[in-house]
Amino acid sequence: MKFLSTRNKNIKMNGSMAIIKGIAPDGGLFVPEYFPKIEKLDSLIDYNYKDLAAYILGLYFDDLGDKVKDIAYKAYDSKFPNEVVVLKENDTVFLELYHGRTHAFKDMALSVLPHLLKASLEVNKDNKNILILVATSGDTGKASLEGFKNIDGVRCMVFYPKGGVSKIQELQMLTQEGDNLDVIAINGNFDNAQSAVKKIFIDQNYKNLLLKRGYELSSANSINIGRLIPQIVYYVYSYLKLVKIGKLNMGQKINICVPTGNFGNILAAYYAKRIGLPINKLIVASNENNVLTDFFNSGIYNSNRNLIITSSPSMDILISSNLERLLFHLVDGDTKKVKIAMEDLKNKKSYKWKDLDKSLIEAGFATEEDISNAIKTCYDNYNYVIDSHTAVSYSVYKSYKNRTSDNTLTLIASTASPFKFPDKVLNSIGIFKSKDDFKKLEDLAKLMKVDVPKNIKELENKKIMHHRVIDPKNMKKEVLEILNCKFSVKVPATSANIGVGFDTFGVSLNLFNTFIFKKSETFMEDNLVIDSYKKTFKYLDEDIIPISVKIKSQVPYTRGLGSSSTCIVAGVYSALFMMNKTINKELALDIATEIEGHPDNVAPAIMGSFVISLKHNEHIHYRRFELNKNLEFLALIPNFSLSTKDSRNILPKMISLKDGVHNVSRAALLTPALVNLDKNLIKVCLDDRFHQPYRKRLIKDFDLLKEKSLEFDAIATYLSGAGPTIMVLSEKNSKTYAMLKDYINNNLKNWDVKKLNIDLDGAKIIS
Ligand SMILES: *Cc1c(COP(=O)(O)O)cnc(C)c1O
Repeated sequence: MKFLSTRNKNIKMNGSMAIIKGIAPDGGLFVPEYFPKIEKLDSLIDYNYKDLAAYILGLYFDDLGDKVKDIAYKAYDSKFPNEVVVLKENDTVFLELYHGRTHAFKDMALSVLPHLLKASLEVNKDNKNILILVATSGDTGKASLEGFKNIDGVRCMVFYPKGGVSKIQELQMLTQEGDNLDVIAINGNFDNAQSAVKKIFIDQNYKNLLLKRGYELSSANSINIGRLIPQIVYYVYSYLKLVKIGKLNMGQKINICVPTGNFGNILAAYYAKRIGLPINKLIVASNENNVLTDFFNSGIYNSNRNLIITSSPSMDILISSNLERLLFHLVDGDTKKVKIAMEDLKNKKSYKWKDLDKSLIEAGFATEEDISNAIKTCYDNYNYVIDSHTAVSYSVYKSYKNRTSDNTLTLIASTASPFKFPDKVLNSIGIFKSKDDFKKLEDLAKLMKVDVPKNIKELENKKIMHHRVIDPKNMKKEVLEILNCKFSVKVPATSANIGVGFDTFGVSLNLFNTFIFKKSETFMEDNLVIDSYKKTFKYLDEDIIPISVKIKSQVPYTRGLGSSSTCIVAGVYSALFMMNKTINKELALDIATEIEGHPDNVAPAIMGSFVISLKHNEHIHYRRFELNKNLEFLALIPNFSLSTKDSRNILPKMISLKDGVHNVSRAALLTPALVNLDKNLIKVCLDDRFHQPYRKRLIKDFDLLKEKSLEFDAIATYLSGAGPTIMVLSEKNSKTYAMLKDYINNNLKNWDVKKLNIDLDGAKIIS
């Protein structure tokens, strides 16, 4: 399946690329080139939510293959209750979509998108960082923050209109923790935020600048096709559930009524219809920003009006982005028509559209008074509390029904928990007891006979983490500034020497230290990272910019796995980044070697893979090799360290010519042996005479572990760096790891074993 731009059919990519890009390069949105069909709807009736999600994702994102199943299972894990969506019946059926972590329906798609994005990067072998820019009218922001929190390689910045979101929504965002996340208030409304973000997406120069800093842009807004597709699932799922409980006959049509802002949720219902869900009417419900109501009733889209701040802020939108996709489908992909309309919208803030499907789409809007009435009626008649967004939908549904006496069963998308909008809900029902926001939540809880959701209650005492307020016209500048204010460097562990390659050979392994840097007023700490950072500035003769660093460590300290090299490399990288320099690996290697004294650890830490290096006249010569993919590194790590002094002092001052020749010949043959996985030759070549025979005396159990490894089918062992870690080379899928682990667990309390693979990338700036 390919995806096309709504404005140009020649722009065509597969699903994973469309997800990564977020928006087409010409400013159009990605749409599927055709609608896949559900083969037999009734065959899906017993699917649980996750499996149905995997099925529907698979229809569209065929290039992700089997990964869709894993994605669906990760997305809808314990973050959701057992029943991912809940149906509530009274005079109609409410589809409660707000049972995810942030209490709004945005969780339904935004818990999927990060996994989709990760999988898309994997299939495209793309190891750049992704920078997600989000414009939010409230709920997308929080749901993106939760979705992308601590996702490796992704940085997420959320822009929301100051004063344009509810108190609870704002607190949800401002208290967000997570090193890869930023929340920025803007002076302006949602449309200002959205158009500033869109401008960045189509500014090729700016995107190149970001690429130079290692970031590729993507979007988590509903313009990303990776958000739209997961939303189809709940319509299909709830239809099947209604059949299952006997409310519907298979094949019987339903109406779907959706409170609409950016037109994503209702468009997903349209997509559900196009893949085979029996739908009679789609009812588009707006609040007082009723651009869409006017559009569907008159064919004229006119955004030339003032945005009204309402009690349903997530729908306070005048430019409803996803409508562009519907236009494309309504004219069967006549991209010229779409392009003209979108250009008119940009230049004249309005456009005319002739091709509407009046038999399918109904539109209406609700005033603030209508919203209040809907909340109150629903509570009075059914003891059921709905939020202000859902109330828009309920109100529009009621007036549709009165107008037409259409008796089709109608599913109303219930998009937010009342706890996100307690003011409007309580006022509408007539409860004015408390002034304090958090007391109001208690009042609401009593009314609904449930507890205040824990993570909303906790907002009262959570620390505010984000303080920026900016003008939308400064967004480009701010984004760069923020990137520099907080970023991370991820550096792999390294294993040096590799037996005979004393001070010369090193390999990079997939165990990482992550260093989180923040710009600060002064230097807060003094350590090897900061020291290397300062030395890099001095090396390049630049003025030092203060910074602070936090370390998330996986690489054990002082065990011969290059943990101090990770600090040096992180210091060098962060300094280059702060100087706004492109990270040039060779320059980084020169500086890091200058600091470390020898290149054998820092070279593979920077370059990745297996590296042979030497220093000659202040310059580092190195060659990088990719070793056999079936080679595995089992690190036997003891719970003690050796003093550097002892392990240096124990070395001989002189080496005999014989031992020299012994080592030189083996060192020369080791590389081809490792590349070809020539097991016998590896065994022969790892027999070192320079340092291992002396250093092993400091490590009780060395000989025992070596002997056991060989007994368990290992290829060979060597002392990692200056020890005390012993590295065991084995073949992938051999029994060595399991047997060694078993042996160590039962016999050697002081040792641990870790299975490692070669890291090919080397150090990276990550979000
Ligand atoms: C985002 C949102 C909407 C609008 O959804 P769109 O997909 O933008 O039309 C409605 N209600 C709530 C609570 C929302 O968060």
